[in-house]
Amino acid sequence: MISILPVFCSTRLKGNWPSLVFAATLCACGPQQHDQRLDFYAFGTEVSVTLYSVTTPQAQSATEQLQAHYADVGHNWYPWRRGELHAINNAMRSGSRIDVSPRLAGVIRRAAEFELISGGRFNAGLGRLTELWGLHEISAIPSTLPKKADITAILADSPGAARIDWDQDRAGTRSDFVMLDLGGIAKGAILEDSVTILLDLGISNAIINIGGDLTVLGNVRGRPARIGIRSPGNRSPIASLSVDDGETVVTSGIYERFVEIAGIRYAHILDPATGYPVDHAVSATVIHVDPVLADAAATALIVGGTDEFDALTEAFGLDLALLIDSSGDVRLTPSMRERLHWIE
Ligand code: AMP
Ligand code: MG
Repeated sequence: MISILPVFCSTRLKGNWPSLVFAATLCACGPQQHDQRLDFYAFGTEVSVTLYSVTTPQAQSATEQLQAHYADVGHNWYPWRRGELHAINNAMRSGSRIDVSPRLAGVIRRAAEFELISGGRFNAGLGRLTELWGLHEISAIPSTLPKKADITAILADSPGAARIDWDQDRAGTRSDFVMLDLGGIAKGAILEDSVTILLDLGISNAIINIGGDLTVLGNVRGRPARIGIRSPGNRSPIASLSVDDGETVVTSGIYERFVEIAGIRYAHILDPATGYPVDHAVSATVIHVDPVLADAAATALIVGGTDEFDALTEAFGLDLALLIDSSGDVRLTPSMRERLHWIE
């Protein structure tokens, strides 16, 4: 099993702005420039954004705009709290159409696209199953396994984001069981939005890291960014790889988040074909210039497992992908094999 360990962290210095910790390091920057690290806690995870060779006004604007955006998506893209996605799910459940804001409509449409590309391995319309397994909320974890009949009833209706029919940006569906849960794609979309915010501010060298999924903009003081991969067992680094300008690295792992029901651990990634949590693949890493695609593809690779690795990497057009299954077997695309530097 692996997890991504960014190895570019800089020394932390205390800052004055609330809820953030800044880091400044000595750097070969222009006169008014410095490196700065911004730390946020958003949508249940740690976000760190490291800016290279920025001015103080640039860093300040980045802080304000990123913070506002993270607060917005944390509220509006989470289906189990009163925000836009919650309202969309409620409307669809009651059979009515609802206006969706352009950005969220775009993300939902991409989720539907990935559902089709992956042959249903990626499915962002299984919120009812997520609820049944209690994967969304600690207090909702059931004490016994969900009833097979309940799982079957949901799957019989073939729920999915692709079941939504659109009238411009008004969404509706005829399925009683479609409930959007964008957890498998949201981090990729937020990485994409973060890049837009930074580029608009004229910041062209940065690393945005959302809970281990990261996008590299430009380079790190003239050199390509490098990230480390470590074993979750003894946490020691086992490999490293360079990440080029504009690339995103996303890892999905069944060890990261899980629920425990009657003493057995169940992963937070569901196999849409069975309605049960995946247990055959433990970790999938994808590198791609499209963060949203990378996020969806990593989730789909976990579901497909080693049997479908080749078909799914082809379907998503992945050059750089890595999958480790529960028996420790590693599948790599040829380019990923070249990119990885094993430490031992
Ligand atoms: P990730 O960590 O990107 O693989 O996303 C996992 C999250 O996506 C879960 O916590 C669920 O919210 C959601 N999810 C679970 N199973 C699937 C699936 N088969 N396809 C798409 N999203 C899923
Ligand atoms: Mg994902």
